[in-house]
Amino acid sequence: MKILKVLVVNCGSSSIKYTLFEMVSEKKVAWGVVECIGFPEALYKRQNVNIDEKKDYVKVTNHKEAIELIIENLLDKRFGSIVDINEIAVVGHRVAHGGVKFSKSVLVTEKVKEDLKEYFAIAPLHNPANYAGVLAIEKMLPGIPSVLVFDTAFHQTMPDYAYMYAIPYEYYEKDHIRRYGFHGMSHDYVSRKAAAMLETPLNKLKLVTVHLGNGSSVTAIERGKVIDTSMGFTPLQGVVMGTRCGDIDPAIIPYILSVYPRQYKNSSDALNTLMNKRSGLLGISGLSADMRTIFKAIESGNKRAKLAFEMLCYSVKKYISAYYGVLNGIEGLVFTAGIGENSPFVREKICVNLHALGIEMDLAKNNVESNEERLISSSSSKVKVMVIPTNEELMIAKESKACLCECR
Ligand code: ADP
Repeated sequence: MKILKVLVVNCGSSSIKYTLFEMVSEKKVAWGVVECIGFPEALYKRQNVNIDEKKDYVKVTNHKEAIELIIENLLDKRFGSIVDINEIAVVGHRVAHGGVKFSKSVLVTEKVKEDLKEYFAIAPLHNPANYAGVLAIEKMLPGIPSVLVFDTAFHQTMPDYAYMYAIPYEYYEKDHIRRYGFHGMSHDYVSRKAAAMLETPLNKLKLVTVHLGNGSSVTAIERGKVIDTSMGFTPLQGVVMGTRCGDIDPAIIPYILSVYPRQYKNSSDALNTLMNKRSGLLGISGLSADMRTIFKAIESGNKRAKLAFEMLCYSVKKYISAYYGVLNGIEGLVFTAGIGENSPFVREKICVNLHALGIEMDLAKNNVESNEERLISSSSSKVKVMVIPTNEELMIAKESKACLCECR
């Protein structure tokens, strides 16, 4: 089958990011984002291979209007990237939560749309937005197939003893409360890249992949299959993140409720905001969720910024060490995403004193700034430490293309 272009759409609660790929070269043709959907003014940023970034404030009240704007722009006679919608072979939708039903990417059908609705309650910010995106694309691109690619799917290989929580079993049976894991496309993508870098088939490798961005997760991968991952039922669990607390003693929450009854009583929203938006680097430093701002503050002697940085690195170090044990040794450790790709300080702080695990950093290589995938371990290091830029959009495009080819 001839695949021309694939459009990747990532609908968040108030934003839509998109990338149009040409699939022979796997190069980006056009990309952009509509931010602040539903606010008095939305911001539309877009770019293509021929045109530098353009920005406009626009009135966009919902996801449907945002998709209309994006498609009209792609079709624009002077500044667009396609002449006819049929140049788009398939649309790949990033979907946050696939629950237990979706263990791999699927072609959208009426039944799939119904099944997707079942997970609105588990991912209330993301899945309804993803669903709205699917409906809007169907309207704007009639006849063009859509594929759902799930953040959770790559993690569906976890054994039950890793994904279960030790709370009464009925909450798993009735309410599907279990670990799902997120950032699946990123962990999948960098693990494949690592295998290529190490010139070893994925099915002969044990890897720990560390995705450190605003949201962060660590995954243990054996022979290409996830054995465990740090995020859980939601993306809140695991390491310290930009604004998320990661692992805490669950008893802290009812305690906070009892100490501040008026502020939090009957308000799961306020508690969710506390843990998801006001914690992590931001909560500890009191300054920012952005690692670059944290570093500037550390340079000027800010102690809480230093503590936030140290807590984040320590939490990642603990997961790497635990997964090293779970996998009974690893061949490769991969850093990716905004912080993982760009911060030598974070990588060094995490990897220092892990000699016992056969992890030895080459500090000169670690300090080189680059956008390329690279090895940063010393030649004597038993574990190869790599930095591999993630590309979740390309992974979605490839998955969508593969899913379409399989179904036809
Ligand atoms: P998201 O989870 O939103 O996709 P990213 O993967 O873009 O996030 O990562 C954002 C994080 O990466 C921010 O904390 C930002 O400060 C950090 N980051 C980006 N560039 C650098 C850099 N050069 N040094 C340190 N941190 C960086």
